[in-house]
Amino acid sequence: MTKKNKKTVTCIDCEEKTDNFYPVPNNRGTLYKCKECYELSLTRSCRNEYSYRDIHYIANAIKN
Ligand SMILES: [Zn+2]
Repeated sequence: MTKKNKKTVTCIDCEEKTDNFYPVPNNRGTLYKCKECYELSLTRSCRNEYSYRDIHYIANAIKN
């Protein structure tokens, strides 16, 4: 029997068990995402931010 001191959680995105996770605060408590899904969600939110800015830029360009 091997002793495991590391905590493992189930990722909310891919539902894989992992000990390499990041906490994601949620209104129901803290959820966990594995490193891969967490980084993927960061990349996605960055992209959304950029496209949001682009939309505003285009909207302003049309107004002027
Ligand atoms: Zn995952």
